[in-house]
Amino acid sequence: LRMSIGAIRDDRGHIVGVLGIIRDITQEREAQRLKDELLTTTAHELRTPITTIRGLTQILLRGIEQGNVFSQAELTKRLQTIQRETDRLARLGAELTDATRLQTGSLSLHRRHEDLCTILEELVEIQRDALDFHGLWSLELRNSEVPLPVWIDRSRLEQAVNHLLENARKYSPEGGLILIETKRQGDAAQIAISDTGIGIPEQELSKMFTPFFRASNASSRHFSGVGLGLYLCQSILQAHEGSITVTSREGKGSTFLLTLPCEVQLHGESET
Ligand code: ADP
Repeated sequence: LRMSIGAIRDDRGHIVGVLGIIRDITQEREAQRLKDELLTTTAHELRTPITTIRGLTQILLRGIEQGNVFSQAELTKRLQTIQRETDRLARLGAELTDATRLQTGSLSLHRRHEDLCTILEELVEIQRDALDFHGLWSLELRNSEVPLPVWIDRSRLEQAVNHLLENARKYSPEGGLILIETKRQGDAAQIAISDTGIGIPEQELSKMFTPFFRASNASSRHFSGVGLGLYLCQSILQAHEGSITVTSREGKGSTFLLTLPCEVQLHGESET
């Protein structure tokens, strides 16, 4: 709590009263802490990809200047690394933009009436190729038998589900199964995303959706990331009056459960 005290004076400057204002600054502090952390983490996370990209481009440029001929394999490997690191930077940039929008309350939704089952069917079709499973992980969708009418911003919801799928792969050894199940539960539509990965230590489960949190078994050396993704997923679900929870057993796997309000019936092409 922060307290400010001021004197109230009359026309002639005599003190006629005292005004005290007590303000709860917990939220302001939290916002400031987030901003500080955002800066420190960003500066740190930028360093590695920039160093790598700079180093590799120097090698390539110097080589060309000195008349070196790189083999196809050498060139490909170096360019692939540059591409991977550039993707990493782009992703960090996008996450930071969203986090800032959340902080300033300007994350706006463009909601439409949609069927969740159709959205997931299309999403899984695309992600099967996009996520580079190379046949090493399998992705299975068990869709609800009844339609799941929801009023959502499709691209934001896809962003959340895609992030959870990426995590499921990232934190699972090869050969893992990633399962997506959708169902109706009373007034709610649910999406459960399960993996057979490294899991999360029980005592850390409650901190999973805190910005910048990274579990102790996901050492940054092994798995890149800054710990903003789940925070963004939670914010997206909350903006839809929904929620996200996690259950997990370390070494066995994790399940993320997304809950959204379900509408009574499917709407036509209408937009709101
Ligand atoms: P990051 O970019 O670090 O992956 P997230 O916000 O997506 O950020 O996740 C925060 C942390 O939660 C991760 O660092 C990891 O420790 C843990 N985590 C997220 N998803 C999983 C998962 N499917 N299995 C195990 N741990 C996970």
